Amino acid sequence: MRVFLASRNPKKLAEMQRILAEHAPGIEVVGLDDLPTYDEPVEDQPDFEGNALLKARAGLAATGLPTLADDSGLCVDALNGMPGVLSARWSGPPKSDDRNNSLLLDQLADVPDGRRGAHFVCAVAFCHPDGAELVVHGRMDGRILREVRGSGGFGYDVLFAAEGHDLTTAELDPVEKDAISHRGRALREIAPQVASVLATAG
Ligand code: IMP
Repeated sequence: MRVFLASRNPKKLAEMQRILAEHAPGIEVVGLDDLPTYDEPVEDQPDFEGNALLKARAGLAATGLPTLADDSGLCVDALNGMPGVLSARWSGPPKSDDRNNSLLLDQLADVPDGRRGAHFVCAVAFCHPDGAELVVHGRMDGRILREVRGSGGFGYDVLFAAEGHDLTTAELDPVEKDAISHRGRALREIAPQVASVLATAG
C-alpha cells in the first residue's frame, strides 16, 4: 500500500514518516524525491484545511497515487492568531526560520509572561484516486518564550514550550514531541482511516 507524502520540508517530512511508520506500519511512504517533479500549488487558501487539501489534491493529480499532505502553523494569542497560515513565510522571502523567530521575539517584546499563549495547528488531508477525501486537525497549546533554546525540531520550536513543559519543543526528544504535537495528534487520528480506505479500495 503506497502513499505519496507531499511535503518539501525535510524536517516536517521526517516527523511525518516517523509517526506513520509507528501508527500505519503497512503503508509504504513515497516522497517528492522518489517521483518526477510537478508544479506544486501556491498555498493561497485562508485556512490550514484548505491548503492541506490543495496540496493533497495536486499530489494525487500529478502522481495518481493516494496522497497525504499537511498544512500547519503557529497561532499567537497576542497577535490575534498570527502568523497562522503565513507561518512559513512570515518574515518574507526567502523562507527563514531564524528571521521568523527574530520577528516573533520582536513582536512580543512588550508582552508580559502571562499573555504569551500560543498554539500550533496542523491539518492533514488525504485524497484517494477513487474520490475519497479525509481531513483531520491536531493542536498543541503552549507559550512563547523570550529566547531561543534547543536544536531539535524546526520552525518555531526553539521558542515554544508546550503546556506543562519547561523545555521547548526543540529541546524535547523527537518521540516526546510526536506524542504531544499537533502533527502527531492529527497523523495518529488519520492513520487508521487511511489504512481502512486503502484496504477497502484494494
Ligand atoms: P507549511 O509548510 O506551509 O505547512 O508551513 C508550516 C510552517 O509552520 C513551518 O515552516 C513552521 O514555520 C511552522 N510550523 C509548523 N509546524 C511546526 C512545528 O512542529 N514546529 C515548529 N514550527 C512549525
